[in-house]
Amino acid sequence: MKLPDRVDDVSARFLSVVVCCYNEAHVLPEFHRRLMLALHRLPVRYEVLYVNDGSVDDSLAILEQLCRAPLVRCLNLSRNFGKESAMAAGIDHAWGEAILFIDADLQDPPELIPSMVRHWLAGCDIVNMQRHHRRGDTFGKRISALLYYRLLRVLVDKYAVPQDVSDFRLIGAAPLNALRAMPERARFMKGMINWLGFKTVELPYDRMARGGGQSKWGPLALVDLAIEGIVAFSRKPLRWFSLLSALVFGLTLLYIAGQLSTGSLNAHDLILGMGAMLALGIALIGEYIGATLSEVKRRPVYLLSSTFGGLARQLKAPAESAPPVSALEERENR
Ligand code: UDP
Ligand code: MG
Repeated sequence: MKLPDRVDDVSARFLSVVVCCYNEAHVLPEFHRRLMLALHRLPVRYEVLYVNDGSVDDSLAILEQLCRAPLVRCLNLSRNFGKESAMAAGIDHAWGEAILFIDADLQDPPELIPSMVRHWLAGCDIVNMQRHHRRGDTFGKRISALLYYRLLRVLVDKYAVPQDVSDFRLIGAAPLNALRAMPERARFMKGMINWLGFKTVELPYDRMARGGGQSKWGPLALVDLAIEGIVAFSRKPLRWFSLLSALVFGLTLLYIAGQLSTGSLNAHDLILGMGAMLALGIALIGEYIGATLSEVKRRPVYLLSSTFGGLARQLKAPAESAPPVSALEERENR
């Protein structure tokens, strides 16, 4: 997919590069330098939108510096809301017709952005970057990711999450509008993107080692994300459990019949087996009720504490800073 060297109409296309940051002070200056180098080569208009997800290191101070440049803005969340929520903030506030998500830790090389943009300009709605190698990730991370994606394939329906797609992706105007129209609080970007459809291309890439700092995902956080993702996205586990219950029920009846005929029915085994299964079922139902609860509450996915940089300062109407952030967010989320 080669683009002509001079394409005048693409110069009107507008891309927002959204970068979620949580304690990335170690890498931010180098990341920004490489990002800007890559962006300067683009044939389209662009802005960089950093989302500071409640960093407790020097990230905010560094971002304030970086945002002195005209094309760079920052959303400063009121606390750490997690990457999915930070991405939702980016989606709500990006000015571009398309969004490109990239991690701040240099695991996603900014140098690949021009090729993603080329695919977008050539008509792809979504450009997914697919991890080729996970050289940069620990063994545990690789195994858990492998198991997780396999599990998702079994548990979630045909819109199964493609394997090893990262959050490094470009989302064009049509899917972006669709995403904005999805009202759910539980954000699970990989699943949502896959559910959308649209013309999608997957480009393989080598995932690098972190440029510095640490991964924010401990094993527990990954389990958390996995359960959230599945529960938010599929009712299939409930169906599987119903089938399992029916199977166990049938087997139990057979067992009782057998034991009765030989006169040696042992109620203990039955109660143990059934008890364990019931506990599992209740836990599963609990997960879904919990997920429903957070949807029903309709709280904002994130809160903004401030926005700064780029043109934001000049464009911000005085009234906009007046209402409490929560009210503002509620309105903007509609
Ligand atoms: N991140 C975030 N909020 C969080 C955790 C992570 O905005 O609560 C950002 C982080 O700064 C990085 C990206 O999300 O830019 C990916 O995070 P990380 O590198 O920790 O994840 P991994 O690459 O290990 O999957
Ligand atoms: Mg990373």
